[in-house]
Amino acid sequence: QAVVHWFKMDLRLHDNRSLWLASQKAKEAGVPLICLYVLSPEDLEAHLRAPIRVDFMLRTLEVLMTDLEDLGIPLWVETVEKRKEVPNRIKELMKSWGASHLFCAMEYEVDELRREAKLVKLLAEGEKGEKMAADVVHDTCVVMPGALQSGSGGQYAVYSPWFRAWIKHVEENPECLEIYEKPGPNPPGTKEKHENLFACSIPEAPEGKRLRDDEKARYHSIWPAGEHEAFKRLEKFCDEAIGKYAERRNIPAMQGTSNLSVHFASGTLSARTAIRTARDRNNTKKLNGGNEGIQRWISEVAWRDFYKHVLVHWPYVCMNKPFKPTYSNIEWSYNVDHFHAWTQGRTGFPIIDAAMRQVLATGYMHNRLRMIVASFLAKDLLVDWRMGERYFMEHLIDGDFASNNGGWGFAASVGVDPQPYFRVFNPLLQSEKFDPDGDYIRKWVEELRDLPDLKGGKGGEIHDPYGRGSEKVKRKLEEKGYPRPIVEHSGARDRALDAYKRGLARD
Ligand code: FAD
Repeated sequence: QAVVHWFKMDLRLHDNRSLWLASQKAKEAGVPLICLYVLSPEDLEAHLRAPIRVDFMLRTLEVLMTDLEDLGIPLWVETVEKRKEVPNRIKELMKSWGASHLFCAMEYEVDELRREAKLVKLLAEGEKGEKMAADVVHDTCVVMPGALQSGSGGQYAVYSPWFRAWIKHVEENPECLEIYEKPGPNPPGTKEKHENLFACSIPEAPEGKRLRDDEKARYHSIWPAGEHEAFKRLEKFCDEAIGKYAERRNIPAMQGTSNLSVHFASGTLSARTAIRTARDRNNTKKLNGGNEGIQRWISEVAWRDFYKHVLVHWPYVCMNKPFKPTYSNIEWSYNVDHFHAWTQGRTGFPIIDAAMRQVLATGYMHNRLRMIVASFLAKDLLVDWRMGERYFMEHLIDGDFASNNGGWGFAASVGVDPQPYFRVFNPLLQSEKFDPDGDYIRKWVEELRDLPDLKGGKGGEIHDPYGRGSEKVKRKLEEKGYPRPIVEHSGARDRALDAYKRGLARD
């Protein structure tokens, strides 16, 4: 006899609703809790999981395994090559453990919902008259998808009214921010009885998802894994930076944001804990009012909920379709040279190149830059935004379908609450506004390190080296191999507007 908790994107012991429910159930029944993680190489491939993200997840499993073992709870990691085999394999494992009940958190992407529906059915069919049960519970969002309705009774497609409704709902339903305790220890003797489960080890990353040793060395120091690190980062951010978040959040050269996205995406930190911690630092102890930085940060974390709600309500966004069907007829360019220059940070636009090189070096990019590079790809280069969306998933440590899809939809003007299509970021103006001292560019684009910014009335060559630099500067850059701009912004803007207009007219 046993109860099972299946870990997915909720890799933490604290404030994990499904794990808590499973542990309560096991306690009531006086049976042990067994934890399970299923690694499906085919699934990782299908979901474009970045190797850096897979590595983070495997390191997190090590932390979980140690912490669970201290409670006498085993963590069994099962590799199942084909994803469609996952439900069957889980049932077999449960049978072999004599487990009658499984708990897991709901994931809202279409494939995952189908998989869980299949699992619930399989377990309900039981085995030789012995039925098993699965509880697939809401956990990842602070407010459950479907709980908020607009005046007309549907899902909001615009963030601001949705956010007002979200705040109201959380304040009226304090359980939204109630924290779930970590599980208590298993009954004595569990270790002896399930010795084989405690002998499980964490597998290597599947082929195609492995990091090189030098990459591991680099990434492990930037991104320490596990929930303890998430707490530390959250505390540090709340102690040192959240108060100034409103002023600093758009300046990528500053350490103005939390860098917690990897923890939200892997579930090493729950959004409830994060929002509650931030709220409690506010002198009003409320979600709105009081310190502007805290309020603003809470509203950013809420964007994560918003995009998940959108995904649940309009699941076709999972199927390579734009949220706005009228935007399906745009004739995108599939210029491979342009796309390649963008991915490698060799477009000749310093701010774009710095951002794309940051991703290659760290698996992360600042939000302001995600918006700038996404707009550049979809509008200046007119490359199909889905190629960029895919590239981000394949390279980001925090790759999350809903937020990534939402961000691309916003920047390419094809999503919910988007940037209007005729608003096209000017990379030069964005660079001067959000990296005024050129420090961010200097950090990532080695070739431009010596060029002046606009401080003290200097020429600002760092933002536009071939446009503003002297002949000598240009010669030097050519020697270093820094490319000239691959498009001319105002012409590219006109071409984009034209393509969008033609696409809309064809509807
Ligand atoms: P902070 O500024 O400290 O914000 C705190 C948390 O709020 C973030 O960790 C994140 O969970 C959430 N958040 C903040 N802004 C957004 C937003 N616009 N949308 C959704 N959630 C938000 N975020 C991801 O987590 N995964 C992605 O794959 C992803 N892809 C993106 C692609 C594009 C084109 C764009 C424009 C944005 C994308 N974002 C994505 C949102 C955002 O850029 C990152 O969440 C943020 O940069 C992470 O840094 P941080 O943790 O320091 O954020």
